[in-house]
Amino acid sequence: MMEKKMYIGGQWVHSVTEKTSNVTNPATEEVIGVVPSASREDAAIAIDAANEVFESWSKTTASERCNYLFKTSELLIERADEIAEILTLEQGKPFAEAKGEVLFAAEYFRLYSEEAKRIYGETIPAPTPNKRLLVIRQPIGVVAAITPWNFPALMIARKIGPALAAGCPVVVKPAEQTPLTAIAIFEAFEKAGFPAGVVNLVTGKGSRLGPEFLENQKVKKITFTGSTEVGKYLAKGSADQMKRISLELGGHAPFIVFEDADLDKAVEACIISKFRNAGQTCICSNRIYVQDSIMKAFSDKLAERVQSLKLGNGFEKGVDIGPLIDRNALEKVQEHVEDALNKGAKLVTGGSVWNRDGLAGSFFAPTILTNVDDSMLICHEETFGPVAPLLSFSTEEEVIKKANNSSYGLASYVFTRDLGKAFRVSENLEYGMVGVNDPLPTVAQSLFIGWKESGLGYEGGKYGMDQYLELKYISMVLND
Ligand code: NAD
Repeated sequence: MMEKKMYIGGQWVHSVTEKTSNVTNPATEEVIGVVPSASREDAAIAIDAANEVFESWSKTTASERCNYLFKTSELLIERADEIAEILTLEQGKPFAEAKGEVLFAAEYFRLYSEEAKRIYGETIPAPTPNKRLLVIRQPIGVVAAITPWNFPALMIARKIGPALAAGCPVVVKPAEQTPLTAIAIFEAFEKAGFPAGVVNLVTGKGSRLGPEFLENQKVKKITFTGSTEVGKYLAKGSADQMKRISLELGGHAPFIVFEDADLDKAVEACIISKFRNAGQTCICSNRIYVQDSIMKAFSDKLAERVQSLKLGNGFEKGVDIGPLIDRNALEKVQEHVEDALNKGAKLVTGGSVWNRDGLAGSFFAPTILTNVDDSMLICHEETFGPVAPLLSFSTEEEVIKKANNSSYGLASYVFTRDLGKAFRVSENLEYGMVGVNDPLPTVAQSLFIGWKESGLGYEGGKYGMDQYLELKYISMVLND
C-alpha cells in the first residue's frame, strides 16, 4: 500500500482539506495506494509557488536548465524498473510496455535538455540604416499541465520537458487513476535538484481543479492531453483571459492496407497499432480498411495472431494485453461491440468480457469484427479497447474518402509497397500524422500533432518548444 503526498513549493504535502482518494489496480481491483485529493485552494497554492519563481527560473541559463533536465532523464533510466512497476500496478499495461514508456519519458527529458540551448532569435534587415530589428523568444509563464491515464509517464515528459526547458515553472495534474507514476517522476525532479516551486504536482479531480487553472490569472498556459470533450471545455474557458492552450485530444485512426502491401508485416503492424496498451492509445487504429482482394487473407492471418495474444496481469510472464483502465472503459467497449453485432457485423474472434474464472479485473478479450460499416458506433467514436473492426474497399479514391470521414484527425496509417501511392495517400489524408508501413510513428525528436477535433497546437521534437515561448519583436533606433 503506497501512501503518498503531492509536491508543492519543494515540499511533499497533504491537501489543505486532508481529503484523500484511493488508487486501484485495474488487474485485481485492489486498492494499492492513497493520494491527496486536492482542492481548488491546493491548486492555487501550487500556482502561487510556481509564479513566485517564474522570474528567477526564466532567467537561469540554458545550461542550468539543461543540467536539471538531463539529470532527471538519467534518474528515470536508473529507476526505470521501479517506476514501471508502479505504472503497471496502477495502469495495467504489461511490465515491458510500462518500462518502455518510462525510458521513452526519459528520452523526452533528454531531448528537451538539449533543446533548452536552442532557443534562438532572429535579426531582420531594417528598412532604414539606423534601425535594428530583432525577434526574440521568451518563456510564457506558469504552465498548468493536465495529463491522462493511458501514458502516465510519457505525457508528463512530453509536456513539461519543453516547458521547463523554455524557462516556465509548471503545475502538473495527472489523471485520478494514475497519480503514483506522476509522484515517482516528481521524486526524480526532487533528486535532480530543481529549485523549490519550479515543479509542482497536485493530485485530484479534473472537474475541481480545471476551473482554478482556467480562472487563475497567474496561469499563462494550459497544456492538456485527454478527451475531446474536456479539451473543448478548456478551449472555451481559456477564451476569457486569452490563455494560451495546447490540446492533444482523441483520435480515430484509419489503418489502410493496400493489396500490394507486405501482408505479414501489415498484420504484425496491425497487432501493434491496435492492441498495444489494450487498445487504449489515442493513435490506435480504429478503422482497419483492407483492399477487398486481400480481405480474407488479411483477416485469417490477423485472427491467428490475435488468438495467440495472451491476456492477463501485466506482471505475468508473456502477457501481451492487460486490463482496461476500469469498469466504465469495459462497458464502453462492450457497447461498441454489441452495437456493431446488432447492426450486422460478424464476430471473427473475441467479443466479450474475458472470463477469468471469477477473478476480478476489467479485461476484454481481443476482438476482430468484419462486415463493419459506417452506421456503427465503432466507426465514429473512439473505442479505446482491443477491438479491430475490418472494413473493405476497392479503390484508392474510395478509401481516402472513407478514411477522411471523421471529425478526428490525429494518426493514420498506410500499408503499400508503391511509392507513388504512399505519397499520394499520405498527402490526401486529413490527419496530422501518417505512418507509412509504420505502426509506431511517435518518436521524441519529431512532431506529434492532431488536426481537426483532435487538437490545437502540437508537441514533440524542436516543435514542442514553441508552445511555451512567446515571440517578442524589438525595434531599435540607434543614436548617432
Ligand atoms: P479525460 O479527458 O477524461 O481526462 C484527461 C485528464 O483531464 C485527466 O487528468 C482528468 O482528470 C482531466 N479532467 C477531466 N475533466 C476535467 C475538467 N473539467 N477540467 C480539467 N481537467 C479535467 O480523458 P481520459 O479518459 O483520461 O483519457 C483518454 C482520452 O485521452 C482519449 O480520448 C484519448 O484519445 C486521449 N489521448 C490523447 C492523446 C493525444 O496526444 N492526442 C494522448 C493520450 C490520450
